[in-house]
Order: sequence, then C-alpha cells, then structure tokens
Amino acid sequence: MSALLEIRDLMVAFDGFKAINGVNLSVGEGELRFLIGPNGAGKTTLIDVITGLTKPTSGTVTFAGTSLAGRKEHKVVRLGIGRTFQTSVVFEELSVVENLDLAANFRRPLVALLRQRRGVTETVGRALETIGLQDLADSPAGILSHGQRQWLEIGMLIVQGPRLLLLDEPVAGMSKDERERTGELLTEIAKDHTVIVIEHDMEFLRRYASTVTVLHEGTVLVEGDVAAVQADPRVQEVYLGR
Ligand code: ADP
Repeated sequence: MSALLEIRDLMVAFDGFKAINGVNLSVGEGELRFLIGPNGAGKTTLIDVITGLTKPTSGTVTFAGTSLAGRKEHKVVRLGIGRTFQTSVVFEELSVVENLDLAANFRRPLVALLRQRRGVTETVGRALETIGLQDLADSPAGILSHGQRQWLEIGMLIVQGPRLLLLDEPVAGMSKDERERTGELLTEIAKDHTVIVIEHDMEFLRRYASTVTVLHEGTVLVEGDVAAVQADPRVQEVYLGR
C-alpha cells in the first residue's frame, strides 16, 4: 500500500543554508506520526513545504498520489491538508459553535449566507462532540481556557474535512489534565484522519506516540517506535542533550 504522504530527497535552502537537507518521509493513511527534534532541526520548514507555504529547492512531495510541488496554500487545503499555527485563529467574540461553523464554511461563505441555515450542522455537531466542548457551544470563544481554545482550533480544522492534519505543538502550555485530554483527542482523530504532530513533550510522546521521526540539522536522524527512538544514543545526544 502506498503512503498518503511521500517525501523524497527534499531539500530547502535559504540563501544557501540548507534548512532541509535530503529528507525522506513516508506517512501512511491513518497514522498518528510524531515529529521531534531540537530547535532549528527543520520541523517547521518541513510542515511549511507540505502546506505550500515554502517552495522546496529540490525533491518531491506527493500527497494521495498527487504532487504538491509548486502548489499554493489554498490549493493544498483543497486537496485535504489542514494545519494549526502557533498563533490563534479563533474569533473571541464569536461562540464556540460559530467559530466551528465559520471554519466549516470558510471556503464557501456566500453559499452559507444564502442558505441561512439554522441550528448546528451535522459536521459541526460531530466536531463539537469530538473536541468535547458541547457544554460551551454557545459561550464566546474568548472565555475558553488555553487548552479548550487549542481543541477548538483542532475542531475548526476537522470541520473542513481534511485527510491529513498537521499540528504544531498542540499541548504546549497545557495543564496535565489538558495534555491527557489532548492525547485522547488525537487518538480519536487518528481513527479517521492521518495526523502529523510536532511535539517536544517526552512524557506525552511516551503515552500517545507510536512512530516518531527525529529531525536534526535538516535530516531524519532516527525513525521508529517511540521506545526505540528514546533509547537511541544519537537521539539522547542531540535531542535530550545527554
Ligand atoms: P524547527 O521548526 O525545527 O525549530 P525551522 O524549520 O524553523 O526549525 O528552521 C530550520 C532552520 O532554518 C533554522 O536554522 C532556521 O533559522 C532556518 N530558517 C527557517 N526559515 C528560514 C527563512 N525563511 N530564512 C532563513 N532561514 C530560515
């Protein structure tokens, strides 16, 4: 079976500096893949290339058999790839459900307006349940805790129906309970999506990761089962600083 996302011999140079220097990465449909690596390893650049924000210098990126080379961001979104950013995209004055509704319709806002739909659509209702914010559906997003806001952002991606979700440090700044809830949420989402998560929290990885890819200086240093990756002396040296 071919992978949903296939990256071959990827190179990204900024003024001659190789931020990505020959990365090969294969992520299968339905995988929950974790991407780790020290600061400057190239994680964000890799995600930027997948989402069309950064153009690769050389190499190929294939998603569901389609080349992503040179595709603009909105085209990539249309192909079924969604990502979260470290900066929030939530509208604080709108309710939780309105934020989800807006995200669900953001590619066809006029149609949504013309339809003058009432109540919660099935897609939004399901996402609300998945992210566990039913009780806060009508509350303004501005009152959400940091964790709840992150879940809402994940919900805002899900309602757009992506096949691949790219999440950048989803548990950063979360409480222990919130981290646990996020781990469960990711596991749930991975049942019908492919998910790539950039994450640094080792305890979180131990609990929720299966396959981990370690980037270092623009290349894949190690890849495999979380326990094996953590025990690898190269990983301990570059990533854990031991
Ligand atoms: P990570 O997300 O793993 O911390 P990045 O992908 O952000 O790493 O960065 C990888 C390397 O590429 C870093 O050394 C960074 O300074 C450099 N870099 C990233 N984006 C640019 C850019 N637009 N111009 C120049 N250098 C960049």
